[in-house]
Amino acid sequence: MSCYKHILLAADFTEKGSIVTKKAKQLAKDNQAQLSLIHVVDNPPIVDAGYGPIIPIGIDFTEQLITSAKKRLEKLADKFELKESKQWLEMGSPKLEIVRVAEENNVDLIIVGSHGKHGIALLLGSTANGVLHHAKCDVLAVRIHDD
Ligand code: AMP
Repeated sequence: MSCYKHILLAADFTEKGSIVTKKAKQLAKDNQAQLSLIHVVDNPPIVDAGYGPIIPIGIDFTEQLITSAKKRLEKLADKFELKESKQWLEMGSPKLEIVRVAEENNVDLIIVGSHGKHGIALLLGSTANGVLHHAKCDVLAVRIHDD
């Protein structure tokens, strides 16, 4: 029996993310569901001049970031033979954009990786945690073991 019709994989392009991608692919196959991919180009960090600028003020890297992310998204789809999948490239807060795209496109399962953060890291919030709290559909957090 298929439970899900449209699965959205949140891809961050990390090496460990391949575990998450493989699981998403298998789940989509088992459910005969559509598999879509999303990557969000995060908001650039705010730099406190008191500590010295990390990113030179006045230089906009947005275009380069988008071009690079687009290539990486295509490469991911290629590597895992997901060429049929729909791909979204958004800008902003990863958790909010993932949830928004899911809602607007009738996604019934979001798949994210989870590092199992705890303590202060959990209080500060992770993407997986944010998606879990904001999403209206089911969320699968695939455990990523950091060794
Ligand atoms: P994090 O909480 O940032 O360690 O990331 C946990 C999971 O959230 C990752 O394994 C991805 O599934 C997803 N994720 C994190 N950042 C992004 C991003 N910029 N775009 C899409 N998904 C992301």
